[in-house]
Amino acid sequence: MKELTLPNIELPEDAEFLRKEIREFLNKERKQGSFEPKCDTWLGGYSAEFSRKIGHQGWLGMTWPKKYGGHERSALERFVVTEELLAAGAPVAAHWFGDRQTGPLLLRYGTEEQKQRFLPLLAKGEIYFAIGLSEPNSGSDLASVSTRAKKSGNKWIVNGSKIWTSGAHHAHYMITLVRTAPVGDKKHEGLSQILLDLSAPGITIRPIHLMTGEHHFNEVIMEDVEVSEDMIIGKEGEGWKQSLAELAYERSGPERFMSTYPLLEELVRRLSDSDSDYAKIAVGRLVARLWTLRKMSLGVAGLLEQGKSPEIAAALVKDLGTEYENEIIKVARLLIPSNPSVTAESSFDALLAQAILHAPGFTLRGGTTEILRGIIARGLGVR
Ligand SMILES: Cc1cc2nc3c(=O)[nH]c(=O)nc-3n(C[C@H](O)[C@H](O)[C@H](O)COP(=O)(O)OP(=O)(O)OC[C@H]3O[C@@H](n4cnc5c(N)ncnc54)[C@H](O)[C@@H]3O)c2cc1C
Repeated sequence: MKELTLPNIELPEDAEFLRKEIREFLNKERKQGSFEPKCDTWLGGYSAEFSRKIGHQGWLGMTWPKKYGGHERSALERFVVTEELLAAGAPVAAHWFGDRQTGPLLLRYGTEEQKQRFLPLLAKGEIYFAIGLSEPNSGSDLASVSTRAKKSGNKWIVNGSKIWTSGAHHAHYMITLVRTAPVGDKKHEGLSQILLDLSAPGITIRPIHLMTGEHHFNEVIMEDVEVSEDMIIGKEGEGWKQSLAELAYERSGPERFMSTYPLLEELVRRLSDSDSDYAKIAVGRLVARLWTLRKMSLGVAGLLEQGKSPEIAAALVKDLGTEYENEIIKVARLLIPSNPSVTAESSFDALLAQAILHAPGFTLRGGTTEILRGIIARGLGVR
């Protein structure tokens, strides 16, 4: 079996100064009533106003070049901002995908014109992106996508549908994986990524409601949608390789183990007067696991900063992290008598209900547990 090692990353002093700054900002925002902590806000907590404020603070596009509106700070400083936003349960969904993966994707593969057009708006928190990968008949087996883009003059004509598209009803653009050449011997070939304007004629966005009743994801139907040829990202036919490169960003960040962190914090607050050794041990275990996951996630951030593509380690963080998010729910239910409801007045009951109702998605989104374990096993040479 091959070894999997991650660098031991310590946060520099600058990053800790930044932590203080962002905590002060978040406390102030909370006191002013701009948000109430919630679970899973990186997918469900939409506030364009809040995203613009984060952009104004210089906390979006943090690592990108200044000439594209970025701030040329380190990936570790970005890590601190990310974990503080998640810990606070702040409404960050509007900008999340754009800051996490569309920006890096465009920096790596986009044309100069695309970079100049989109990155400064992303860094200001003024433009939002959805991810158009999954289709009604294509989820884990992503290379089987059947949405097609056909060339007609200087345009692409796109037909097909995407499903489970988070935030498409708020987003301006969708990074859409399409087939630009017929399926050949290798189905991973002939795929491309297109920047699709979600307000274009021929696009219908239908809501799919969560168990909480919230409108979070959608079905996006594309009928003869015209897309200018310069909206292709990178090289035609290289969409598979480019999409895979995005996954290390998508799978390894603190959002993969902190979706239920606001519940953990409330649990600790509730137990602060408890004398129960059982409760202390259970919470101690949760905190120790959190620390380990954080170390691993930081290690992946360190490798990404060095320009590496740590797909296997990223898959491991997501697998262990999502299991952990569910464990917080289990422990919270065991330790505190509760009556979970999203409309509950008690913040513990409300956070618990949000966590329970969002939990089924944790191990599915961004690659299911079974698929991730396959990647890890192959990477370690045991499959
Ligand atoms: C909250 C949430 C948000 C999402 N947001 C987005 C989004 O913004 N954009 C987007 O494109 N998609 C999004 N998705 C979709 C997500 O990426 C897919 O649900 C996921 O890739 C799985 O695909 P599927 O649902 O078609 O399940 P399937 O692929 O049909 O899988 C069904 C089951 O079979 C198992 N399985 C499948 N293949 C194998 C195999 N080879 N070996 C072992 N087991 C296997 C899976 O693990 C799973 O348990 C979101 C999903 C959720 C839950």
